[in-house]
Amino acid sequence: MNDFKMPTDAGRPSGSLEVVCGPMFSGKSEELIRRMKRVQISGKKFVIFKPSIDTRYDATHVVSHDQRKLEAVITGIDADAIEEIRRIIIEKNPEVVAFDEIWMYDDGIVDFVLECVRQGRRVVAAGLDTDFRGEPFPNMSRLLAHADFVDKLKAICIKCKDREAVMTQRLIDGMPAKYGDPTIVVGAAEMYEARCRECHQIER
Ligand SMILES: [Zn+2]
Repeated sequence: MNDFKMPTDAGRPSGSLEVVCGPMFSGKSEELIRRMKRVQISGKKFVIFKPSIDTRYDATHVVSHDQRKLEAVITGIDADAIEEIRRIIIEKNPEVVAFDEIWMYDDGIVDFVLECVRQGRRVVAAGLDTDFRGEPFPNMSRLLAHADFVDKLKAICIKCKDREAVMTQRLIDGMPAKYGDPTIVVGAAEMYEARCRECHQIER
């Protein structure tokens, strides 16, 4: 008879990192909500964080798509905001932690996410993988490298309406943004579109 024994750490929860990325309009937030709805149904404790440049930490907000509604904690994006997130995690001790638009956070978010994973939590991180120039966001690159599971979502190119869109096109007053354009152009009508590589334009 086999005297099989479970490994000694079998009872320890094993953390994991899931990254959901892609261009704008590829359905990343919807996918995050879908996963967290399942977590909610399973009765596990969870917290969803969503960054905002102009909202206070403690504001709660309802992320809503169709009939799907889940509460998210709106946070700042700097190192102080990450400390605030840490305090919330200690207080609520959730099994699952989700971040929407994680690329917006200070680079310290990557170490914090890995800390959560080491603590045995499941982390779901969604956000853009590249900026409007097609350059990877540094913290997303690191998260993708550390991830256990990666899903790259695609949109449909709004220009050719044929190929799948893997890039985010930025338009300023209707014209393709220049490579060196500042993130915020005061007074300009700014727009984003999902485009394929062939239709993506950058003015140099
Ligand atoms: Zn196209």
